Amino acid sequence: MEIQVVEAYDLAALNEGNRGRSLSDPEVERRVSEVLARMTLAQKVAQLHGSSIQPIEELYLTAGEPSLGVPPSKMVDGPRGARVGVATTFPVAMARGATWDPELERRVGMAIALEAKAYGANVLLAPAVNLLRHPGWGRAQETYGEDPLHVGRMAVGFIAGAQNHLVASVKHFALNSIENTRFEVDVQVDPITLHEVYLPHFRVSVKDAHVGSVMTAYNKVNGSYCAENASLVRDILKGRWGFRGFVESDWIFGTRSTVESALAGLDIEMPHANYYGHKLFEAVERGEVPLTVIDDAVRRVLRVKYAFGLDREEPVAKDVIECAAHAELALEAAHKSMVLLKNEREILPFDPSGLTRVAVVGRLSDLENTGDRGSSAVKSSLVTTVLGGVRDHLPDVQVEHFGSDTLDAGARTRLLAAEVAIVVVGLDYRDEGENIPFIEGGGDRTSLRLSNAQEILVREVARLVPRTVVVLIAGSAIEVRPWLDGVPALLLAWYPGMLGGEAVADVLFGQVCPSGKLPISFARDVRDLPPFDAVSKSVRYDYAHGAWHLDRHEALPEFPFGFGLSYTRFEYSDLTLEKRALDDDVELTVCVRVKNVGGRAGDEVAQLYAGSETARVPRRLCGFGRLSLGPSEQKCLRMRVRGRDLAGYDVVTGDFSLPASRGTLWVGGNSRDLPLFTEYQLEPVE
Ligand code: BGC
Repeated sequence: MEIQVVEAYDLAALNEGNRGRSLSDPEVERRVSEVLARMTLAQKVAQLHGSSIQPIEELYLTAGEPSLGVPPSKMVDGPRGARVGVATTFPVAMARGATWDPELERRVGMAIALEAKAYGANVLLAPAVNLLRHPGWGRAQETYGEDPLHVGRMAVGFIAGAQNHLVASVKHFALNSIENTRFEVDVQVDPITLHEVYLPHFRVSVKDAHVGSVMTAYNKVNGSYCAENASLVRDILKGRWGFRGFVESDWIFGTRSTVESALAGLDIEMPHANYYGHKLFEAVERGEVPLTVIDDAVRRVLRVKYAFGLDREEPVAKDVIECAAHAELALEAAHKSMVLLKNEREILPFDPSGLTRVAVVGRLSDLENTGDRGSSAVKSSLVTTVLGGVRDHLPDVQVEHFGSDTLDAGARTRLLAAEVAIVVVGLDYRDEGENIPFIEGGGDRTSLRLSNAQEILVREVARLVPRTVVVLIAGSAIEVRPWLDGVPALLLAWYPGMLGGEAVADVLFGQVCPSGKLPISFARDVRDLPPFDAVSKSVRYDYAHGAWHLDRHEALPEFPFGFGLSYTRFEYSDLTLEKRALDDDVELTVCVRVKNVGGRAGDEVAQLYAGSETARVPRRLCGFGRLSLGPSEQKCLRMRVRGRDLAGYDVVTGDFSLPASRGTLWVGGNSRDLPLFTEYQLEPVE
C-alpha cells in the first residue's frame, strides 16, 4: 500500500493570499512615485508619525492624505486576538508555539486579522517574536518559544495568514526579552550571536512572509536604542535583507531622537509626534536630515498602503467577531497546544463512566485567566474555566469545587472521598506580563516556583487523592522539581484562551489526545539557565540559552525542548536523506516514516536536529512537522533543510557561509529522544 507523504513545511501554501507579496509589484511602485512627486514636505512628514498618545476608538492612527488618495493607518494590538471591543481570545502565542503547527498559526493569524479589520483596523501589531532567553521574562507568553527556527516558522504562518486581510507588524526588533528594564537596558551581543540566534526569525518574517511592517524594540542593542540603531535597521533589516515595508517605533518611550532615528531608518514614530512632526520638518530644513531620507521613509509607507490595498478596503461585516468558526479555531489551537508532561501509571485519560465524585481544586480553577493585562490583552464575551469545562463533561457526576489554594480540615476530609482530583495551579496577570506603568500586575518573575500555598496544595491533594492531575497555567516554564515526584500526572495548559477550560477537560477525559510539545526547555535546576538580570542597565547575551545551554553544559532538563507525551505511541523508522543543488544553496531532504503503534488516534510532532563537530551547539533544530495518525496508521514526513540553515555567520564577509562540512541529522519525538540518525556531507557553495 502507498504510504502518504506529508510535506512538513509548505511555504507556498502558507503564503496563499498574503498581500505582502505585492511589496515588489512595479505597478505599486509607479503609483507611489506619482503620489510622492506631488507631496509637499509637510504632507510627507505627516505620514511619518502617529496621531495621538491615546488610541481613537481603540485604534492608533497615522494620518491619511485624502487629497492624494492616501489612506490613514489604523493600528491595533493582536498577539492573542484583536485588542478592540470584544474579540475571540486565542491561546497565547507561547501555547500556540507548543502546537508546532505553522498552518494552524496561519489560520489563527487570519482570524485575528479579520476581527481587527471588522473593527476598522488595517495594521496588526503582531506577532511578537523575541526569543525566550530565560523563562522569567514577563512577556514570555507573547512569543512562540526559545528556538529561532521554530519561532520563525510560527511567525511566518501568522504573518502570512494575517496579511490576507491587513498589514502585520512583527515586533520587537530586536533582543527585547527583559521586561522590567525594557525602556533602558542595553543588550550587548556579538555579531555571531546576533545573526545566528536573535535575528533569523525576523529575517524569515521579512524574506519568507513578506511582512509589511517591523516594530523596533524599546531597549538598546550594543549601545544604541533600537529605534535609532543604524546597524540593525538601516544596514541589516533594510540593507542586507532588502526589507521593503516600513519600520515603526514601539510606543511611549520608543523614540529618543529626531535626526539619529531618521538617519538610522526609523520611518514612523508611534503613537504620536514627539521627536518627529515639526522637529523632523525643521531638521530637514536645516539640512540635518536629507530629503532623500524622508522620501525613502514616505515611499515605504505609501508602498505598504498601496501594496496591501488599504485605499480600497471594503468594510468587513461585524458578524465575524467571536463567530462560531473562530471559537472553533481557538478550541483547536488550545487542544493542540496542551502538553502532557507526566502520566504515571497512565492515570490519564480519566474514564468519565467510572466516576462518581471529582474534586476540582485551586484558586485558578474557576478564574477567567487568558493571560496578562498588557498590550496583548483581549476581552471575550465568554471564557470557560477549568471548573466549567469539567462540569460540562460530567453532568451526572458530583463535581466538588475547592476554590482556594489552602485547605482546611473539612476540605481535607471531603477530598478523601474524591476518586480523582484536578488541581489547577500556576500564574495569572499579577505574576507575569507586560509591565505598564499604572496597570496592576505584570513584569518579570524573580522566582520560577509556584507560590508557597500552591506548592503545599499540590502536595497535600496528591497525598489525599492518588489519582491527582495537576493542570499548570503559565506563559513559560515553572520549576516543578520541588513537588513533581509526588504527583502522578501533569498537564501544561498555558493560558489556553476563551475555550481553555473546555479544552483542558477534553484532554483530561480523553475526547482529545494531547499532542503539544514544549517550545521551550524546562530546566531541572535553575542554575542551568543563563543568567537573568532584570535590574542592570547593561546585560550581555551570549550564544546559548534554553536547550543549547543545557546541552552544552550536559545538564539534565526536567523536560527537554520538544517534549510532550501522548495517549498513544509512535514509532520512527526508514530515515532517508537526499541532497540536491539549488541555484545559490544546497538542500537536504529528509524523509522519515512515523507509525501510530498505540491504540488510538493522535498527532505527533516529529523533529529534526543537526549537529557537527564544528557547530557551536551540540544539536540544533532544523525541521519539524505535525502528523495526524489513526491507530496503526503510518505516514512519511518530508523535511527540507537548506544549507544556509546549517551554515554559520562569517564575521569577515558579514554573511552566512557554508564551509565544507559533515555532520549528523537526528530525528525523533523530542530533543533528547532521537532514535534515528544519518550522516550528511556538504560541499561549499561558491
Ligand atoms: C508594547 C507593544 C505594543 C504597543 C502598543 C508597547 O508598550 O511594547 O508590544 O504593540 O505598546 O500597544
